[in-house]
Amino acid sequence: MSRIHLATLAAVCITGVLTAGAQAQQPPTATTKVDGTDNVYIFRYVGHQSMFIVTPEGVIATDPISERRPAKPYIAAIQAITKAPIKYVIYSHAHWDHIAGGKPFKDLGATFIAQKNGKARIEELKPEDVVVPDEVVDNQRIIELGGTTLELNYVGKNHSDNMLVMRLPKEKIIFTVDWIPIQAVQFRGMADTYLPDTEAGLKKVIAMDWDKLIPGHPGPGGKQVGSKDEAVNQLAYLQDLSAAVKKAVEDGKSYADAEKEIKLPKYESWGGYGPFLPMNIERYYDFWNRGI
Ligand SMILES: [Zn+2]
Repeated sequence: MSRIHLATLAAVCITGVLTAGAQAQQPPTATTKVDGTDNVYIFRYVGHQSMFIVTPEGVIATDPISERRPAKPYIAAIQAITKAPIKYVIYSHAHWDHIAGGKPFKDLGATFIAQKNGKARIEELKPEDVVVPDEVVDNQRIIELGGTTLELNYVGKNHSDNMLVMRLPKEKIIFTVDWIPIQAVQFRGMADTYLPDTEAGLKKVIAMDWDKLIPGHPGPGGKQVGSKDEAVNQLAYLQDLSAAVKKAVEDGKSYADAEKEIKLPKYESWGGYGPFLPMNIERYYDFWNRGI
């Protein structure tokens, strides 16, 4: 299987799979202002979502989320709110389902920013319809525009080696994608995910000052905004999963038996529990059995 195909698989959304039926009833796009803010919005495009911030001096947009579909609805959603120019497009991480389709933003003059490892991945694989970032972030960069401050933080490897945690310090909001879902287990076999770096990263994110999480996909019931509980609960899930799989490996269980026998009832109601828990178990089995 090609690396491109793996990356594509990794990036297919969790909740999109589970709520495809419900989403069929919804309009394909929607723009929502985040409660308690004057200028922070979520643009949802079918099962993906992206944050944008409107300031008097211009707009900071994030993931184009326009793979194999026009970016026009996202741009139209921004222009329905402001005529100020779109100054930036910031990639959450280099998975194509989130970052493809940005060319119309580029044509409007936006500066594209990604974590430096993300730019390297894009240059290496040359995915179709992904704009190569103009600028990169190493560990941190602060964007100031029209009275808004946005921090771009790199907290290490997790779901990819180039994930940014974007934080609005005044609004106490973070936007980060695919690794801290709203009430969901990890997607399939956790492709492109680094263990145990993810746990270390979650601890760093929990220690940051913020109240609201905007993830890259809506959660159960179409919920678009989570809280710090999502990060705390995801860390607990990964720790519980890791401990259960470690014990199974120590007890000499096979992959098949571990996947059949390990149940984590605390997380039974979460998205993806049925189909993806065994695949999450397989990922941790490799880690504890082989160190990979
Ligand atoms: Zn991803």
